Amino acid sequence: MRAHNFSAGPAGLPLEALEQARDELLDFEGTGMSILEQSHRDAPYAAVHAEVQSLIRELTGAPESHDVLLLQGGASLQFAMVPMNFLRRGKSADYLMTGVWSDKALVEAQLVGNARIAGSTLRADGRYTSIPRTEQISLDPSAAYVHLTSNNTVFGTQWHRYPDTGKVPLVADFSSDFLSRPVDVSRFKLIYAGAQKNLGPAGLTIVLVDREWAREGRQDIPTMLRYRTHSEADSLYNTPPTLSIYLTRNVLRWLKAQGGTAAMAARNADKAQRLYAALEGCGDFYRVPVGREDRSVMNVVFTLGDASLEKPFLIGARAARLIGLKGHRLAGGMRASLYNAVSPADVDALVDYVKDFARRNG
Ligand SMILES: *Cc1c(COP(=O)(O)O)cnc(C)c1O
Repeated sequence: MRAHNFSAGPAGLPLEALEQARDELLDFEGTGMSILEQSHRDAPYAAVHAEVQSLIRELTGAPESHDVLLLQGGASLQFAMVPMNFLRRGKSADYLMTGVWSDKALVEAQLVGNARIAGSTLRADGRYTSIPRTEQISLDPSAAYVHLTSNNTVFGTQWHRYPDTGKVPLVADFSSDFLSRPVDVSRFKLIYAGAQKNLGPAGLTIVLVDREWAREGRQDIPTMLRYRTHSEADSLYNTPPTLSIYLTRNVLRWLKAQGGTAAMAARNADKAQRLYAALEGCGDFYRVPVGREDRSVMNVVFTLGDASLEKPFLIGARAARLIGLKGHRLAGGMRASLYNAVSPADVDALVDYVKDFARRNG
């Protein structure tokens, strides 16, 4: 029996995607080899590569102006690549601070050039529990770009309306909510996402970038770190992570068969709403630190009113095959990650456990 997997990342994958990988592992489409063993320059792999790019384009609705790049190095390398390519001397970049990952992105930008905080919801206790309101944001109209983190995996907040940055290019880290809901990609010059949260296995990083902007990026940086290199080589400049890309293909096929991002958004909203309601329905046994309007649909963060019950909560959860519920060490408490592959039935099991644990220990 499969576990109910609420891990933050790497996270659960749809069973269908894994079964297909199992069935095709020893002989991929009659080639007598697995996909892992094939040249990335040969036709069988080329078809997988192209299918992943076209499914991402179709499912995101990314316009023709944007390239779909399949890179490596995780979102963490994007923290550095974005400023290396686009933060020129004499310019400054604006960062909107909503959590651990925007902190890391800012640190990398400041190693490269001039980056400033254009809005932050950091609290005196070092936590972030909200998204900046319009009046908390002050943008530099001549900034090289504005960077934000769409979903804050650690603290459980999410942008539900993106700020208007006018003519200033908007760049966003979508690692933990990519393809979880429809997004107007044309509003962003660049979107990046590590695959291992909401999309596929670790090892692949998706970048959607305006082609012209990518090609205007700095050229006096190492070849592998230029977006232009990957744009011109169709993400085949060097050997891509073929296994991760293949598994991502299976996940994307599954996502399309489910009805795409619109269907996922409805299903994800319902999953999160049911869990938040269950937590709030137990009096003050559980606490949700994030206000309703900023809550993440992907990562539900909560604490127990009596912290001494956290350990028994996790032990009991594991016994019920509810896995991955311990919060990030910086946020404390609990976190249930409800990515696309987490089924409504998984959430039913967690909701039952949450209510039952409160009844027995309240
Ligand atoms: C996990 C995560 C990262 C870091 O991703 P890596 O692929 O491990 O580099 C960055 N941003 C967000 C929002 C994340 O959830």
